[in-house]
Amino acid sequence: MRFFIRTYGCQMNESDSERIAWLLTKRGYERASDETKADLIILNTCAVRDSAERKIWGKLGRLAKLKRNKPDLLIAVGGCVAQSYGEKIIERFPHVDLIFGTRSFMKLPDLIEERVSAGRPVVDLSEPAPFHFIPQLRESKLKAWVNISTGCDNFCSYCIVPYVRGRERHRPVDEILNEIEGLAREGCKEITLLGQNVNSYRWKDVSFSELLGMVNEIEGIERIRFITSHPKDVSDDLITAMAELEKVCEHLHLPAQSGSNSILRRMNRRYTRERYLDIVHKLRKEIPHAAITSDFIVGFPGEGEVDFEETISLLQEVRFDYAFCYRYSDRPGTKAASMEGKIPEHIKRRRLEKLIELTGRIALEKNRELLGETVEVLVEGVNPKVEGELMGRTRTNKIVFLRGDGGMIGTTLKVRIGEASHWFLKGELCSEG
Ligand code: SF4
Repeated sequence: MRFFIRTYGCQMNESDSERIAWLLTKRGYERASDETKADLIILNTCAVRDSAERKIWGKLGRLAKLKRNKPDLLIAVGGCVAQSYGEKIIERFPHVDLIFGTRSFMKLPDLIEERVSAGRPVVDLSEPAPFHFIPQLRESKLKAWVNISTGCDNFCSYCIVPYVRGRERHRPVDEILNEIEGLAREGCKEITLLGQNVNSYRWKDVSFSELLGMVNEIEGIERIRFITSHPKDVSDDLITAMAELEKVCEHLHLPAQSGSNSILRRMNRRYTRERYLDIVHKLRKEIPHAAITSDFIVGFPGEGEVDFEETISLLQEVRFDYAFCYRYSDRPGTKAASMEGKIPEHIKRRRLEKLIELTGRIALEKNRELLGETVEVLVEGVNPKVEGELMGRTRTNKIVFLRGDGGMIGTTLKVRIGEASHWFLKGELCSEG
């Protein structure tokens, strides 16, 4: 049987899809190059925003046609939308064969067999006990995501993740280090430690910054990244580790969500604007060239013009290298969904436009500061849009295009930046790094 996985949403889902692929290939399934060649289509879904969810409903509607032409096709829905809606998905889309949750994906090969032998839809949202991390069939040999935790206990008032991904669980240190050592032996150069709340990691007496120190010792690994950090868990030790450990990249993705203390309180973020700025100042003092990126939500219930202006002023004060901005949408079952003070859509849209315009302008200014500078680029692959051009990233996670040949993929090069836009840089090779 050939399978095709379509992944929506965050890196956690990307990583889960690699695990699903590992489970299926171990059971003898083969990967199909596209949906039309597959006997089994798996949607690994995202429920973090209303718009993400609507994409899934649209996709399931379109798959009905494919199934009419190919009645033996199996359609499975997993991830956060599946965990959240369960069998209601089958009531609405009767052509769906299988629903599995954010934790029961570990049983997927058995669930598929059950679906085939029973001849009726199967729904499984259970949590396997004991919970364990399973290997991944990775798309890239050069870079890898390594899960160090799963789930979240923070219950930000707008967020569905704690409900659909469950309580926070941390992975044993030895298991993490063994996995990274194995990756290094296979030629992996860059790893990203992954967790919904990555910097709250602790295993017995090992903290997150100590874990970074241990990973830094692994031979062959050249770059270490981590995502996503919560401001309330950024310790001075973490900033020191970022400054002192030579493999830890100078990039911190630190979702601020709002610049207004009253909105941060309603969001249950458990830090203030002042605390957030304190982290930024400490980081910039230790690592002046560090890149800081962020996420913002506009139009949270109760957000007045003054609150929004505070978000604008936070953006202007920090000058993020980039910020991802979203319109608030109710997620059923969260605290914010039942809050008063909902903001009309046209106001949310206006605020979002203003924020996107500002983040884009600052991103361009920051990228232009690099013109004429020499940066270290790990070449990841070819630029599929321009023949003879390669694509890589700086340690600060900026995309760089440069002329070169396939033999340079996987090498770290010194590149002089000659062109800057909002999203990427262009440069030319100085000498091999
Ligand atoms: S930290 Fe907050 S926003 Fe992030 S996953 Fe947990 S509850 Fe959601």
